[in-house]
Amino acid sequence: MRNGTSRRALLKGGLAIGAGVVVGACAPPAPAAPPPGGATAITGVTVVDATGVRPGSTVLVVGERIARVGPAAEVAVPAGATRVEGAGRFLIPGLVDAHVHSVPLERTFPPLFLVNGVTTVREMGGFPQAAQWRDRVAAGEALGPRSVVSSTILDGSPSLWEGIGVPFRSVADAGQARAAVREEKAAGVDFIKTYTRLGREAFAAIADESRRQGIPFLGHCPDLVPVTEASDAGLATLEHLWQLWYATSRDEARLRRAVAGVPIAGGEYGGWYAEMHAVEYAAARSTDRSKAADVYARLAANGTFVTPTLSVHRVADVPADLRRDDPRLAYLPPAYAQSWPVQLEQVYLQRRTPETDAQRRELFDRRHDLVAELGAAGVPLLAGTDTGTAYLLPGFALHEELALLVRAGLTPAEALRAATLEPARHLGREADLGTVEEGKVADLVLLDADPLRDIANTTRIDSVVARGCLLDRAARDRMLDDVLAAAQEPTAPVVAPACPCHR
Ligand SMILES: [Zn+2]
Repeated sequence: MRNGTSRRALLKGGLAIGAGVVVGACAPPAPAAPPPGGATAITGVTVVDATGVRPGSTVLVVGERIARVGPAAEVAVPAGATRVEGAGRFLIPGLVDAHVHSVPLERTFPPLFLVNGVTTVREMGGFPQAAQWRDRVAAGEALGPRSVVSSTILDGSPSLWEGIGVPFRSVADAGQARAAVREEKAAGVDFIKTYTRLGREAFAAIADESRRQGIPFLGHCPDLVPVTEASDAGLATLEHLWQLWYATSRDEARLRRAVAGVPIAGGEYGGWYAEMHAVEYAAARSTDRSKAADVYARLAANGTFVTPTLSVHRVADVPADLRRDDPRLAYLPPAYAQSWPVQLEQVYLQRRTPETDAQRRELFDRRHDLVAELGAAGVPLLAGTDTGTAYLLPGFALHEELALLVRAGLTPAEALRAATLEPARHLGREADLGTVEEGKVADLVLLDADPLRDIANTTRIDSVVARGCLLDRAARDRMLDDVLAAAQEPTAPVVAPACPCHR
């Protein structure tokens, strides 16, 4: 154990170990299918979801689905059902991290998502095994979060990713863009991901071909495409908060020329990123309020979701605040954890000065204001982290994102909605996911304290239900034990697929 930290002490940091253990029908970490026909009743609980707060409820789960939700006195619990004491506790829908880049550590990423109540993830690219993981979990052959999977990232030519080793696809014109969309769809991905340096013509072709092929496209709004144009073209979700400042600046034309003029040198992402800072800082400080209101209204009218990913902005903006001695790093194989300071150094810390550090801290505060403005304008928001980036721990990071959204000005209920009902709507799965209602898939998180009182209470997890599979406290502890064991086993050096969303 690192630095002599005991496993027990480590676990106590995030997880109380207590009584009231109920062994579920599925026994992780072995691959587990949802219990066929098995029933679980969470009794006398306060249900908290986007439809409201319902104290004194009993939630009956049969197989994968929620069979009944109602006042405890009215819901009959079948003989043989596993009972979970819900009195004094709070039940929320399973959480969604809408922006992750898993790395191929199967005994690390999926269990860490699940023990943290993250029952669905959106894989945003760079992870070749993502579709296999998705299909094995869906088939009940492996225990992990449900996932939806990105195409190879589609960037322009030249791409920011030349020579770096991250999978990407460079499309130079409309013809290549259309071919890329068709081929990616044929490969079985769930959506097309657009990236920063796509040209306007190629981006428009991706939008049109995606519509023809019936597949969503989403991701970064390219630097050379106004965000309103991307939204009008059908961009399903806008990732991160960079583009909005150009679109809302009174100095937009000059700043866009400046962006286009920043040189892209193969393999020099960090240098490009450092050069972009001055332009972004100028954009953030030249907001035209009336222009901003028009842009937000357009996003809201088009139903374009925004995933602010304040978590990764924190990594990039204020790296001094990161806990480099975070005891939870013990959950990661050392080779992977040791790649994080290197990533930080190579990408985010190049050419930093005390002056740019102060500017970046100011930008981080401004990003919070931007999130509040988007929320107030009715732009739908998704909670996403960019896990896979340095210092974002799978599963844990989503709770930190929720706290950042509340720090930005969302209510705890709005932050929860961004991790439950909103992603369900984005995925077109609101009939199945996103609330605690009869007939929906049983993805649930049982909390020991009220998340509406303090959003940090989403970390006080007693049990998780994933597709009807109950992971109680003992099961979650076993899963964490296995994550720790896996981290200590010799493995080949892990090369993190440097997150393709560094900006
Ligand atoms: Zn990303």
